[in-house]
Amino acid sequence: MKIGVLALQGAFREHVQILRGLGVDAREVRLPSEMHELDGLIIPGGESTTMGKLARAYGLMEPIREFVQAGKPVWGTCAGLIVLAKDIGAEDAHVGVMDVKLRRNAFGRQVDSFETDLHVPALGGEPFHAVFIRAPRIECVGAHVEVLARLDDGTIVAARQRNLLVTSFHPELTNDPRFHRFFWGSVTVGSGT
Ligand code: GLN
Repeated sequence: MKIGVLALQGAFREHVQILRGLGVDAREVRLPSEMHELDGLIIPGGESTTMGKLARAYGLMEPIREFVQAGKPVWGTCAGLIVLAKDIGAEDAHVGVMDVKLRRNAFGRQVDSFETDLHVPALGGEPFHAVFIRAPRIECVGAHVEVLARLDDGTIVAARQRNLLVTSFHPELTNDPRFHRFFWGSVTVGSGT
């Protein structure tokens, strides 16, 4: 079983490092031909417009869409969530498969970046320390989307829809590997559907 981390731009090295620390075969992915050998894919945080442009230039957009449609697990963190979302406001969607509507950089200037402890029942009792960096704000989700975590004000910050997982924060920037283990679990059981 192998997990690929889209390595066009952004915080991909950190994801690879955490996965390898869990003993997972993780590799950086830049070419469509590298998608065939993967059982799961992570789209990291970074800058979604740039990442989207690069993914188009490298011919990766359609292979990623097909990967999702094949039921293989895909996890988007922060910019990766934007890349997967169906509705990102004024711009056209990128991969456009996750039934969420969001607004980019929408936490306001004073709280541009912040950290908080989240209650994530799917990960067990201990709170998960979450780092938000110019995060997108999820405004609403479709009926088939399962909410995994919210901020105190109710804002959804982690969710899944069949084989898709999204987090608006960066679990790869803390030393807590539980989200990575959770995603790995969905890879080893197959599509998770
Ligand atoms: N602000 C970035 C964007 O809109 C996302 C930030 C991140 O991935 N940390 O693409």
